[in-house]
Amino acid sequence: MAILSISQRAKSVPASATMVISTRARQMRAEGIDVVDFGVGEPDFDTPNHIKEAAIVAIEEGFTKYTPASGINELKTAIVEKFKRDNELEYTPAQVAVSCGAKHSIYNILQAVCDPDDEVIFAAPYWVSYIEMAKLASGKPVIVETHPEENFCMSPEAIEKVVSSKTKVLIINTPSNPTGTVYDLERLKAIAELAVKHQFYIIADEVYEELMYDGRKHYSIAAQGDEIKKITIVVNGVSKAYAMTGWRIGYAAGPEDVINAVARIQSHNTSNPTSISQHAALQALTGPQDEVETMRTEFEKRRDYIASRFDEIETVSYVRPQGAFYIFPDVSANYGKIFKGKRIENSMDLADYLLKEAQVAVVPGAAFGYDNCIRLSFATALERIKIGLDRIKQALCM
Ligand code: PLP
Repeated sequence: MAILSISQRAKSVPASATMVISTRARQMRAEGIDVVDFGVGEPDFDTPNHIKEAAIVAIEEGFTKYTPASGINELKTAIVEKFKRDNELEYTPAQVAVSCGAKHSIYNILQAVCDPDDEVIFAAPYWVSYIEMAKLASGKPVIVETHPEENFCMSPEAIEKVVSSKTKVLIINTPSNPTGTVYDLERLKAIAELAVKHQFYIIADEVYEELMYDGRKHYSIAAQGDEIKKITIVVNGVSKAYAMTGWRIGYAAGPEDVINAVARIQSHNTSNPTSISQHAALQALTGPQDEVETMRTEFEKRRDYIASRFDEIETVSYVRPQGAFYIFPDVSANYGKIFKGKRIENSMDLADYLLKEAQVAVVPGAAFGYDNCIRLSFATALERIKIGLDRIKQALCM
């Protein structure tokens, strides 16, 4: 007899914690409560006008039909140019696949390379989706714990300790969500050597590439020699750099067999990414870049402010973010304390307390595999950040 139930696979997937917090914050706002939302991972800026106009032109000119599943050739060519210009990486358009967001690119790559129980290595704290995407691809997540003392960076030695005959891929995210960590060149070279020695793929998630602070330069691991380039798939997108989260365009570049597999898989799930968004992304990559720098400068200002405010709170410490738009402060000195009659045991309790009592939405570190911390996104206006930090300070200094 047929059993009406959802699959074990679907049952094992929790909702994204960042989305859960945002939904609760939205509900509170709908009830008229003034919540300061540090939960969301998207720029608060509007998509630049010249990009919106390109989309309008695309509609008017009839680019409203299916395109090749892995994207239009003009966009692939622009992506090839971008890699040459920014990353000293040479690809052909056949080595590029455009997807519905970088999340979709990573999902498809994992589907393309993982056989059951293949091991997928990444650092904790991790971006929430890596673990679920690895599992959905029948892979086995293997986590390298990192800590504030090492700037939340995986060391080659720590990676080598978990490499096994089942290791299929290592995901490296620089700049990182949730910690803002940036991998320096020396470390990338050492990790590249390791991948070449043991022959596993690298997925280089570089979606925050444009958001670097203190004059730092972004380096792609794929550019550290021919051997590493052959086994690396670089993932990037337009969401974070161009304030285009809703347009859903991400892309991957790497070995042709992997890219072809990504394209085949994509042809059976989403088909092409939205035709209109592809034209907008083409404009984003080939048009004026000055607004990217304007947004980056503003994020850096906010990073400085938010860090200075956490300096005022004795029970909080943090690693200064070097990139992206998140800060991941350690709040564990508050665990075991009683606030407003409630004992705070972990990051979930603290996030709950801040939301209910201070009307501030943050994401508990547990969602990223690191319970000592909470994540705040500073992709929110400075005035709101000020109000939010006043409230957090008051809530934690009682
Ligand atoms: N990778 C990381 C580390 C992210 O934080 C995100 C989005 O939050 C993505 C990938 C996916 O971005 P998108 O699918 O919007 O391109």
